[in-house]
Amino acid sequence: MRIRFEPELVEEAVSLELIRREHRGDFVFSESYREMADQIYKDHPAESRTHEFEVLHERFFHRLGLSEGIHHVLRRFPEVKEKLRELTFAKAQGKQRPGLEVRNGDPAFARVTLKSELFGEPHALLRFLAREFLRLSDLLNPHFSGGALAAGAGTTRFPELIRQRFRTLWDISLYGRLSRRGEMFVSREECGRELKAVFPRLSDSALELMLYKLWDSEDVTQAELQEMARAHSHSNPRTPGAQCPLCHFPTHDWVTEEREAIVGLIRQDYPDWESSQGICSRCLELYQMQAGCW
Ligand SMILES: [Zn+2]
Repeated sequence: MRIRFEPELVEEAVSLELIRREHRGDFVFSESYREMADQIYKDHPAESRTHEFEVLHERFFHRLGLSEGIHHVLRRFPEVKEKLRELTFAKAQGKQRPGLEVRNGDPAFARVTLKSELFGEPHALLRFLAREFLRLSDLLNPHFSGGALAAGAGTTRFPELIRQRFRTLWDISLYGRLSRRGEMFVSREECGRELKAVFPRLSDSALELMLYKLWDSEDVTQAELQEMARAHSHSNPRTPGAQCPLCHFPTHDWVTEEREAIVGLIRQDYPDWESSQGICSRCLELYQMQAGCW
């Protein structure tokens, strides 16, 4: 397996590490970096400097030991090294959620995005990597993925609420397994609270059962996680003040709509919606207008 680091991540991680060392009174690397940078300005015309700086940053990235954590954690996931052709590390841009992307292929390619600041927090970095490498190992396991090799495959068509639940459920399963490997970093109690936050309407005993299936099991599949994420959204009780499954606003005015034309229009926007779930009267009005039937 080939490991690649994208230049933007490498450059930022190196600059931050040099600054951290200067703050500790260690100027050895900064001085050597500055000398080499000056040399690049002297020896190379502007158009070829970008490449020269990329090489310089990559060299410092390794010399400063910034890639060590990654290799250290990877050694515990031999299945990843075996099944993957290329693993790329890139900077998580703006508000992008750091995490994992997998591209199909045989063997496959994966890309981990992370914040460059994480290289300055070794413990947090190791935990993040352990979780994402275990996630990657899940995806590379046909029993888990059912052959659909993409993080969250099959959930992109779901509403955001379901995607969020899916992510939480998967994370809890990862944390449970990591804790049994001796890499305890999120407790079962914390996961229980996370679960309650994404399923606020479930009873304590239902939540405990879910936690048992996720945290205490070694064997969970993507299809099971998806089903769990969706199943409980269907049990959304149509009680006064409960959330409308479309707009997510609390409503006291539930209506049932079963006419083909309107149900079809709603499903174009919310493929996961079933008419038995009901909707709020304001959402119904919008779709009635679109369908031209009242
Ligand atoms: Zn609504």
